[in-house]
Amino acid sequence: MQETLFDFPPKPPKSREFKAHVIDAGSAPDGSPIAHFECSRCDWDSGWVDCPTVTYGKRGIPCPACNQQL
Ligand SMILES: [Zn+2]
Repeated sequence: MQETLFDFPPKPPKSREFKAHVIDAGSAPDGSPIAHFECSRCDWDSGWVDCPTVTYGKRGIPCPACNQQL
């Protein structure tokens, strides 16, 4: 039964992470900054989410759909 402990492939070296990028940005009714992200690979759409900083928006956020498939 010990074998299963080693059944996982070694972690790939910092494999590329698929990111969703900002397609729109604005402010929520309460004034807090929000942004709308979309993945160009699979068209995943984040909807409007909090975007605490401009850098955060520019970096993009990981696409949950694309990063699932290895
Ligand atoms: Zn995606």
